[in-house]
Amino acid sequence: MKPHQLICLICGHLNRFAAQGSSGWPDCWACNASLVSDAVAGIDEAIHNAAILHDSLPLIVGYWTPGSRSSRHTAAEFARTAKDLRDAARFAHLDPDSFPGITGIVQPAALPLIVLYARGIEVARSSCIPISTPNLGVYPARDSRSICVNG
Ligand SMILES: [Zn+2]
Repeated sequence: MKPHQLICLICGHLNRFAAQGSSGWPDCWACNASLVSDAVAGIDEAIHNAAILHDSLPLIVGYWTPGSRSSRHTAAEFARTAKDLRDAARFAHLDPDSFPGITGIVQPAALPLIVLYARGIEVARSSCIPISTPNLGVYPARDSRSICVNG
């Protein structure tokens, strides 16, 4: 089995470990947070960029600015999907207004935006989940729930 490496979405440290064991996912060696959970992690720009580069699990990042009706709807559905897809992918949220540098990297045409990253590259982007991907199928695969905001 290939070893995993995951950036801690709480403190940003790189964790390397053997494949997921019977006891589940390990905690971060630096801060003891769960490396894989069913929660959406609020991340900053540094953790965002490191996780995209290093993670061996797919990372699904939602970009929106809190406060609007559409962002509240997206956040709620995003959180539900994160619980459904625990162990298959990690979910994170970043507010582009708080980290303006991210706009140059991600170049969102509109918000909310959801991007699936895997193996260091962007695989798919959409304003909604499920997002269909050429290499990984459709996320989520076993659930047709849609969090499309605009239809
Ligand atoms: Zn940590």
